[in-house]
Amino acid sequence: MELSNDKIEALRKLIANPGQNIVIMGHTNPDGDAVGSALAWAEILRRQGHHVDCIVPNKYPYFLDWMNGIEEVIIHRTDEEAARKAIMGADLIFCLDFNALSRLENLGELVGENTRAKRVLIDHHLMPGEFDLSFSFPDSSSTCYLVYTIIEKMFGVEAITTRMAESLYVGMMTDTGNFAFSFLTPELFRAVAVLIERGVNIPQIHNNVYNAYTEGRARLFGYCINRKMELIENGTVAYMSLMEHEMRRFQFQQGDSEGFVNYALSIKKVKMSAMFSAHRKFIRVSLRSRGEVDVNLFARKYFNGGGHKNAAGGKSFVTMQETIDHYIRSVREFAEEGHLG
Ligand code: 5GP
Ligand code: MN
Repeated sequence: MELSNDKIEALRKLIANPGQNIVIMGHTNPDGDAVGSALAWAEILRRQGHHVDCIVPNKYPYFLDWMNGIEEVIIHRTDEEAARKAIMGADLIFCLDFNALSRLENLGELVGENTRAKRVLIDHHLMPGEFDLSFSFPDSSSTCYLVYTIIEKMFGVEAITTRMAESLYVGMMTDTGNFAFSFLTPELFRAVAVLIERGVNIPQIHNNVYNAYTEGRARLFGYCINRKMELIENGTVAYMSLMEHEMRRFQFQQGDSEGFVNYALSIKKVKMSAMFSAHRKFIRVSLRSRGEVDVNLFARKYFNGGGHKNAAGGKSFVTMQETIDHYIRSVREFAEEGHLG
């Protein structure tokens, strides 16, 4: 991952005048990487004398509640007025951890309405949209690692406070599945070493994020694996579904099914896994894969979505049964085209 000096200089110019109103946008269903990168970037910008608001479309999962500064993040769904005011008053808008305004749902239009603000992308998803300045690095394992490298280059690692280091570590840890997925470069681990020097306590953060679930989630997980996981294509492709009445039964809170989709990949033969979870207006589709199986391609082709090669998502606007049928048919076609190896 090579950050060009031109881009760094362009960014330096954009934030050179202190006292600007800056908005940092995170994506719908914000995760550890979206929240962590936004909080760290917000802090460094505030230290440059800017007024900064972080905005997300809906609430982050409760296992991130402990993060420093998270209580100041504006949640559009519960505080529409504050979000609108901040976006319309912004001189500069940073879009972190998503690649196109459409990932913000109706908030995307609002961001588009502010025609004065320059828009800067800092992201690691494939196929980015148009921005005034773009830091798009699909081979960065997380947006937090990308923000780390930008901070390192612009301000030096001494500018990283302990709380910034903690925020950055959360995204690096969660987006790599606790350092188990792809793009695990020597540079990433050097960055982690620096974050430890800046005060990160790794076991504590691991515990805060991964051992903070409710009893309901543990029981829901057992239920999903035991009762809902299905294997097709000779045991090489998995899927699971979660309906609203099942969520109610286990006192579901947002974030509770996070990671379930990965679990099927612990089965040796499984190369691709899907999770369908009912939302108010649509079914959320989560996809994961191993090695060369490209779920970004699959999500784009069959579920109007996208993401990364081994982790992608999309939406379905038909019933659960129709969604599952569509998935089974699509997997068949995908396999026939040779995409399942
Ligand atoms: P998750 O399964 O954790 O919700 O999402 C996995 C990856 O897919 C994330 O990188 C996320 O940004 C991407 N993704 C999830 N849903 C969508 C979607 O509806 N559209 C696009 N383009 N990407 C998505
Ligand atoms: Mn990310």
